[in-house]
Amino acid sequence: MENTDSTQSVRVAVNIRPLITSELLLGCTDCISVVPGEPQVQIGSHSFTYDYVYGSTGQPSSTIYDDCVAPLVDALFNGYNATVLAYGQTGSGKTYTMGTDYNGAGSSGGIIPKVMETIFKRVKSMENSTEFLIRVSFIEIFKEEVYDLLDPNYSRGDIASTAKITLPNRVPIQIRETTNGGITLAGVAEPEVKTKEEMASYLSTGSLSRATGSTNMNSQSSRSHAIFTITMEQKKGDDILCAKFHLVDLAGSERAKRTGADGMRLKEGIHINKGLLALGNVISALGDEKKRKEGGHVPYRDSKLTRLLQDSLGGNSKTVMIACVSPADSNAEETLNTLKYSNRAR
Ligand code: ADP
Ligand code: MG
Repeated sequence: MENTDSTQSVRVAVNIRPLITSELLLGCTDCISVVPGEPQVQIGSHSFTYDYVYGSTGQPSSTIYDDCVAPLVDALFNGYNATVLAYGQTGSGKTYTMGTDYNGAGSSGGIIPKVMETIFKRVKSMENSTEFLIRVSFIEIFKEEVYDLLDPNYSRGDIASTAKITLPNRVPIQIRETTNGGITLAGVAEPEVKTKEEMASYLSTGSLSRATGSTNMNSQSSRSHAIFTITMEQKKGDDILCAKFHLVDLAGSERAKRTGADGMRLKEGIHINKGLLALGNVISALGDEKKRKEGGHVPYRDSKLTRLLQDSLGGNSKTVMIACVSPADSNAEETLNTLKYSNRAR
């Protein structure tokens, strides 16, 4: 049923959320179906196969963590970089699936809270033999610039709730490449964390600072890529293992169109597409086994997003892309775009 090729460096899952109240009120109906027992979805006359399909009549989405993410946490403890990417149009369930807006209170079924819980449980069980140094960073890419969401000088928690957003003068962060091909961010805040609660507090602080704007398409549409990164150093005697785990809530994939916003907004749309376009090309090149074996060109340098993730996509690292979709007929066009995009990634 599922693809069990463990050498495959990029896996793709589709997560179909249920119809939400606003869609039901508009009389929307379900336009997507899952082939029973198969990771295959159908929309109109189109049919696509993935590594996993969740929601609707596919697997329950509660198993996403165990299937797709737990192996990446294992990889992290084994010293390999890993990346989870949530892709999809605004309102498709990216933030819900990732748990990016988790505030540390209560339980959230999202991926990030589960990752945090698993990491600290495991750290506790290994504490006698291993010394851990765990750090987090939280950045966003907005209009092709990288910004530090944990920089207290630019905390935007206080203005996030106001309708009119005045962008403060944030200073963009530069991406650097080390001599051994590692990617670092110059001057980014990377606080050390010792507990799950501490880690969660940085996640919620950063989420509040994330750029949001109001358009008549969606009042809270996210036009930036948010990347929460957990870096882990393990010291066992003289051995040091270091790896990082990127949890990425991508910008909405909807096409830039007239949303009643001004020219500025459209320009943002174009920049967002640049990152998503480059990501699609990189992942597609990685999935092209022939290209990979021949050391063929993977176009990492085409956007900030792919440059930043360069050392954590492909090679020895593990990547999962979760394509989030709405089942509503009113979203059929964007859903089809998402299914095509993520199918190319396989
Ligand atoms: P995005 O981040 O892609 O813009 P959200 O995660 O904010 O989308 O989800 C949009 C709406 O759909 C939210 O109200 C969210 O609570 C709801 N939602 C998303 N996924 C699910 C799900 N699997 N089950 C129930 N509600 C969901
Ligand atoms: Mg979101």
